[in-house]
Amino acid sequence: KRKVGVLAIQGAFREHRKVLEKLGCEVIEVRTSSDLQGIEGLIIPGGESTAIGKQLALDGFGEDIITAAAEGMPVFGTCAGMILLSKKIIGSEQYRLGLLDAVVKRNAFGRQVASFEADLQIKGLDDDIRAVFIRAPYLLEVSPEVDILAEYAEKIVFVRQGHILACAFHPELTEDSRIHEYFLKIVAEYQG
Ligand code: GLN
Repeated sequence: KRKVGVLAIQGAFREHRKVLEKLGCEVIEVRTSSDLQGIEGLIIPGGESTAIGKQLALDGFGEDIITAAAEGMPVFGTCAGMILLSKKIIGSEQYRLGLLDAVVKRNAFGRQVASFEADLQIKGLDDDIRAVFIRAPYLLEVSPEVDILAEYAEKIVFVRQGHILACAFHPELTEDSRIHEYFLKIVAEYQG
């Protein structure tokens, strides 16, 4: 059984837990640095990136995630998780892990279309994914090491940089588990 952690400070961590359990994983809810022991991958859920970041800034918790990632632990950030992974956040000094070489814009689709669904074509997947966007960010810029896996309205919404994966939407809110399966493949690739 794959042992996968879900950062459980705030946001949609229970929904991620359900998908991972359906896919046969043992799920650890990660609330402190000690919960990182023995997990093979980590999901950072959607929610409120400032609230999650405040906790990560305490007691070296975020630094310990950065270290674990540097040692090879794959990390997948969704929505607020994508914001927390990015190196640069437009107009904000809030805490971030900076594991993804990208510039992110929060609440980027504007007020009129704060929340919406769309069918996305994903690089490497045969059929479209129904994606749920909730006050979603997008990436304005990525470095050449970042592989763009999906765009919506010409905005970058799903990327991979080695063992770091990030999407602007909420894959845990639909029945389609292919995005989580994609992450578990990266986990298998990096953890053997
Ligand atoms: N707007 C939120 C933020 O900036 C992200 C929204 C989400 O995770 N659904 O943190």
